[in-house]
Amino acid sequence: MEYVSTRGSASALEFREVTLAGLASDGGLYVPRHWPQFTAEQIAAMAGKPYCQLAAEVMAPFVAGSLDFACLLQLCEQAYGRFAHGAVTPLRQLDAQHWLLELFHGPTLAFKDVALQLLGLLFEEFLKDGDRHLTVVGATSGDTGSAAIDALAGRPHVDVFMLHPKGRVSEVQRRQMTTVLAGNIHNIAIDGSFDDAQAMVKRMFQDRAMTDRFRISAVNSINWARLMAQVVYYFAAGVALGAPYRKIAFSVPTGNFGDVFAGYVAARMGLPVERLIVATNVNDILHRAITTADYSAQGVTPTAAPSMDIQVSSNFERLLFDLGDRDGAAMAGQMREFDQAKAMRLTPAQHQRAGALFTSARATGDEMDAAMRWAVETTGELVDPHTAIGLHAARSVALPPHVPVVTLATAHPAKFAPAVKAATGIHPPLPDRLADLLEREERFDELPGDYDTVSRYIAARAKVCADPIH
Ligand SMILES: *Cc1c(COP(=O)(O)O)cnc(C)c1O
Repeated sequence: MEYVSTRGSASALEFREVTLAGLASDGGLYVPRHWPQFTAEQIAAMAGKPYCQLAAEVMAPFVAGSLDFACLLQLCEQAYGRFAHGAVTPLRQLDAQHWLLELFHGPTLAFKDVALQLLGLLFEEFLKDGDRHLTVVGATSGDTGSAAIDALAGRPHVDVFMLHPKGRVSEVQRRQMTTVLAGNIHNIAIDGSFDDAQAMVKRMFQDRAMTDRFRISAVNSINWARLMAQVVYYFAAGVALGAPYRKIAFSVPTGNFGDVFAGYVAARMGLPVERLIVATNVNDILHRAITTADYSAQGVTPTAAPSMDIQVSSNFERLLFDLGDRDGAAMAGQMREFDQAKAMRLTPAQHQRAGALFTSARATGDEMDAAMRWAVETTGELVDPHTAIGLHAARSVALPPHVPVVTLATAHPAKFAPAVKAATGIHPPLPDRLADLLEREERFDELPGDYDTVSRYIAARAKVCADPIH
């Protein structure tokens, strides 16, 4: 499988290189040259398979040429063996129509583990035979950072520089990052928002002074391998609920448009999807883009669902590229306009095609709290604020009664305990394996939200790579 950049001028790469590189050198994002297809018979045959077997089957076409099936299966078994639930991503029925897809049974209690546990092993697999060294630079609204740090701590070929917006991640999120004291992990609290941190990371990929010396890589969902790993649970949930014989709808709490884009990929691969519901909080750029074609960033409002406090949704570019007939030059122009004006419009074709599969809904803080109360009072489930936004959206979109609606439960409620307690009166305890988190020693540095300071900090600590790629 070859991968092409959404901006059309970086050279096509194999899966192995795309995984190590993250962002394309033209500022674009990599997507597969074509979408692999599964027939209805192949999808029917997925029912009842163990998660890892299914995962290897769904991902095999994407890694062809870089990894063989046996190796991929073995990496999946290693990655998902660390999950606290034997089904890896279990489904739970809420009422006659609604289901939760629990994606938070990994080591750091959010869905990011599903992709990052595998990505950590892929890095190791692709780096083990050389003396190449990877400098992972990431921006996190909380959950990517903790999942990446857990997956990469102590790995010999990788250093991690993780930027989080100071004071804007939950205490559990921060501690899951800052209490990992491995020498290859560098936590940086930035004065600014997640979008500021993400912009610095993207700029670093295009800064030759950095890329000439260091082999910089991404663990944000701009890295294709992450989205690939997330396609799997759409198939797992879909076949469990009757695909390919009936259509399924998914409601996805969305920030960077990564998780819901994985649902789009599953649909392109043949999974019968009735609707993909893009659920946002008041930081609603995606809701405005899908309803009115207006993709314009406004200031970020901090909420109790910080992993969705995003106004620049990187992966939306992948969708617009695919819906715009994969015209890289046009996409580069559209993104240039967005970078300059912080606003652009979808083309009529992009807007209309998006509307054929996606519906969006936005939840205020009160609606999010009401959804948490509804879940616990009528179904007995305690859900986290992000999941609550997904549930609110799932219940506010009209769908035929025979269509199962699966809300992606993206985090464990204990990760956001104060917000859950405030809405429901119930304090969700941390699972035993994390029970002492609040007593562990923390380590991190604070830096201003200024690119030159941050790049100097990283350059002083990263390992120079003899063979950087562009
Ligand atoms: C990252 C995250 C999201 C948003 O996912 P995207 O892929 O960025 O859209 C939603 N909920 C939680 C708990 C997250 O950690």
